[in-house]
Amino acid sequence: MPKTTLTQYSFCQSLNNMVDRAVKAIGLDPRIAEAIKACNSLLQVRFPVKIKGRTQVFTGWRATHSTHRLPAKGGIRYSPKVDQDEIEAMAALMTYKCAIVDVPFGGSKGGLIIDPSKYDRDELQLITRRFTLELARKGFLSPATNVPAPDMGTGEREMSWIADTYKHLYPEDINHIACVTGKPVHHGGIQGRREATGRGVEYALQEFFRHKDAVKAARMSGGIEGKRIVVQGLGNVGYAAAKFLSETDGAKIIAVLERDGVLYNPDGIKIEALHNYMLEHKSVKGFPEAVFSKKNTAALEMECDILIPAAFEGQIHAGNAENIKAKLIAEAANGPVTYKADRILQKRHITVLPDVYVNAGGVIVSYFEWIRNLSHIRFGRMQRRYEQLRNERITTIMEDHMGTLAEGVKSDLTHGVDEIDLVRSGLEDTMRNAFQEMNGVLLSNRKVRDFRTAAFVIAVQKIARSYLDIGIY
Ligand code: GLU
Repeated sequence: MPKTTLTQYSFCQSLNNMVDRAVKAIGLDPRIAEAIKACNSLLQVRFPVKIKGRTQVFTGWRATHSTHRLPAKGGIRYSPKVDQDEIEAMAALMTYKCAIVDVPFGGSKGGLIIDPSKYDRDELQLITRRFTLELARKGFLSPATNVPAPDMGTGEREMSWIADTYKHLYPEDINHIACVTGKPVHHGGIQGRREATGRGVEYALQEFFRHKDAVKAARMSGGIEGKRIVVQGLGNVGYAAAKFLSETDGAKIIAVLERDGVLYNPDGIKIEALHNYMLEHKSVKGFPEAVFSKKNTAALEMECDILIPAAFEGQIHAGNAENIKAKLIAEAANGPVTYKADRILQKRHITVLPDVYVNAGGVIVSYFEWIRNLSHIRFGRMQRRYEQLRNERITTIMEDHMGTLAEGVKSDLTHGVDEIDLVRSGLEDTMRNAFQEMNGVLLSNRKVRDFRTAAFVIAVQKIARSYLDIGIY
């Protein structure tokens, strides 16, 4: 049930308030808006699993927010804090996210109340397989209708257990491997899925900085190079985003906020080294070349150019939004800024790039993985050698006229496209197009003053159009 108090909106209410702003801006029929916002179906399961000789009962959910496109898509979260409201809100976010980036899926999300760090691998496998049975038997898992993916607390390992359980239940389903995405590459996954959300954050920021008016409105100039970035959460998304932004784009990651504290270095933290340190020590504390402090959330208020919340929802709220000093917030997590905080940030002219756009990289590449699974062939398999031969012929002709090409240039030109090239190209193209669409709305509709409302305008218009097309309204 929604966790509402007089002063605080639940995650669902916060999201719906944001969507309502877009609905008003385009004057959409309120009945269509109600239909779009409603969560289509919700499954709650309670199932027992015997752990170390004792039976434990686990509670989980899978919410399907919309089925205007199928399958409904979205991750499965393992967390001791997960609840129904959060799952419903995140299922809705998936619907809007898919619409914004033109991924032809509905929105869904799953969650299980569990602290994965308290269980060993075999126990987690048992629990995941049992959860999968519940989802499949109740119609909440299938390549055609509902396709989960990793989220907080789950990863490739859990996805391959889900795929294997489904395969044993429905061996006659020729597309069984497409029942879940985010699988390991050797088990039907796709190259580039693990890095996809972080890579998408990078592409989103690259595109933002190509739009000089948007950069100026955020009281900045130039490109990503040299920008001071604060990252909250060095999980899969935060790590990849921080790594690419610093190593490829020349940004300085001046602070990293983690569970146990904050690391600060005004000259920039080396993310790969920190990541390796965290794998070894399970903590950021003691990392050389940076100052450690225990006060982690206060660091959100640190002076910087770009703040990337890549951890949990509700991190920037009415209580701290007045103190945020970043010029730009790129929401890599789902729902890190509450509705009230969003209003405050807008009044303070802090630009926010919304989650439904910024972190869409994961589901975009999940879409590619699903297509790869349905076509039963790796992208690039047919054309790679053919392209390479053609390119070799072209470079030979070039060399006949221009003399020998440098070895690096030659291998670059002759390289035949492979899966990772295609995935990155498709992801970049999608992120760039979606930004341009959002920016177009922002520039053309005077009632739209921020990127979040622009994103929801696009999403709501596309979903409403498909409702009209299928004759619901
Ligand atoms: N859990 C990710 C998200 O929130 C990925 C979902 C997916 O790939 O289906 O976007």
